[in-house]
Amino acid sequence: MKKQCGRGSIELEQGDITLQDVDAIVNAANAHLAGGGGVDGAIHRRGGPEIMKECRAIGGCPTGQTVLTTGGKLKARHVLHTVGPRWRDGNHGEPELLASCYRTALALAEEHGFRTVAFPSVSTGIYGYPVDEAATVAIREIAAHLRKNDCPEVVRMVLFDAGTYAAYEQALMAEMAE
Ligand code: ADP
Repeated sequence: MKKQCGRGSIELEQGDITLQDVDAIVNAANAHLAGGGGVDGAIHRRGGPEIMKECRAIGGCPTGQTVLTTGGKLKARHVLHTVGPRWRDGNHGEPELLASCYRTALALAEEHGFRTVAFPSVSTGIYGYPVDEAATVAIREIAAHLRKNDCPEVVRMVLFDAGTYAAYEQALMAEMAE
């Protein structure tokens, strides 16, 4: 699915983000940038040790913020490591922190002139964020960035499973209907 938004577009795709040929993929990292399970583990496995070496040199990243490394052996030229919030009950700043992940990743992408960026569904795996709510936040922030800025030109959500894809499809249709 693809929707025009400002001068750019939002795309939804089901698949494995580590295979994306884009200027940058986003990693759902943890605050220690220490690697782990889920998409984080998959990115480090396919990208090789160079990415972890850069992460160690950076040292860490607060929740809601984003840091940049190269893409190592990935097809993607760079990795934007963003640290999503762990879901508690929704009353501990989770929506604002998740919005900040998308905002800071897109601001860094713009600063570096990345034209194509791919995101996974940040926080909805091990961190337990309800996927419908996360999708609404993600799509709203991406749309807001694209309406105000020329870069990136393409923001692609790469969703691992059909249920997650359906949640983002719903959120994208709702955003475009507004
Ligand atoms: P978090 O700790 O932020 O919740 P996870 O990696 O556990 O991060 O999960 C985030 C989302 O990424 C989940 O929807 C999960 O299914 C998905 N995911 C896992 N591996 C991949 C992959 N290779 N490509 C794209 N998405 C993935």
